[in-house]
Amino acid sequence: ARRDGGARTQRFKLSILEDVRTRVELEADLRLAIERNEFLLYFQPKVEWPSGRLVGFEALLRWRHPVKGMISPDLFIPLAEANGMIVPLGRWVMREACSTVAAWLRQGLSPVPVSVNVSPVQLVEDDIDELLRPLADFAVPLDLIEIELTESAMMDVIQQNRGLIAALKASNLRIAIDDFGTGHSSLGSLRRLPIDIFKIDRSFVQDTGHSNEAREIVTMIVAMARALALDVVVEGVETQEQADFLLAQGAEIMQGYLFSPPAGLETATGWLQRHQN
Ligand code: C2E
Ligand code: CA
Ligand code: CA
Ligand code: CA
Repeated sequence: ARRDGGARTQRFKLSILEDVRTRVELEADLRLAIERNEFLLYFQPKVEWPSGRLVGFEALLRWRHPVKGMISPDLFIPLAEANGMIVPLGRWVMREACSTVAAWLRQGLSPVPVSVNVSPVQLVEDDIDELLRPLADFAVPLDLIEIELTESAMMDVIQQNRGLIAALKASNLRIAIDDFGTGHSSLGSLRRLPIDIFKIDRSFVQDTGHSNEAREIVTMIVAMARALALDVVVEGVETQEQADFLLAQGAEIMQGYLFSPPAGLETATGWLQRHQN
């Protein structure tokens, strides 16, 4: 038994070493990836249910690693946040989103708003002027870019950057609280924040089929949004049953695999072309 345990410990240590090595390698690669042009944006449509009308896009970062292939942001964003790379990376994302919208405008399309995920680390480092500089550089109207901040990030950042609330308010930028419902903000604190949109976390949506509690949480969030005069977007909608339930609650703007997974620029441009009128 003792030997077995030892072998297990040994294997365990090796797997930790593997993890550490992957992490170190990824981190080194990450530093070079911007220069090497390995990042790209995918776009996931936000649609109005049940009309199917396109009302927005969320920009989602992808890393095309030369050896490891497509790497999920869930893997490299935490690394980038830990080593500070998220600041240049986040700037790249905003520039790329603005440059895409500018290209659509040049093609004579009328774009829908594109929302950009912003890391709390970026907002502690950069001020709002810095964040919004690409809008001016690419002459993108303010109503075509939104930002998504997670609920917990929003609370953290406000602790560390006291001027932020006023700056965000003054900027008139539309702000969505991402993964809403997973943090623990009070109604009182939410009321003071310059928020425009609640984005309901997909965990609730996915449980609505079997959990009464999840259904009640969704109902409550929609009621809260109404009380605060905010819009609601629901993420992670995968089935028509979920979509119909959400609609019955008064939430008609949705995003999820039921409509489309995130897709590359060409596909997104195609959706935009088909939705012109
Ligand atoms: P998020 O902001 O909550 O983005 C939604 C995630 O859910 C995306 O994963 C999307 O592909 C996925 N998703 C969309 N519809 C469905 C669905 O119907 N079912 C399921 N199961 N999943 C769905 P993705 O693209 O892998 O991004 C993961 C996370 O990485 C994002 O979560 C966001 O927190 C972060 N992220 C992505 N791009 C950026 C970025 O440019 N900057 C920063 N700071 N974070 C980013
Ligand atoms: Ca998001
Ligand atoms: Ca989200
Ligand atoms: Ca989420």
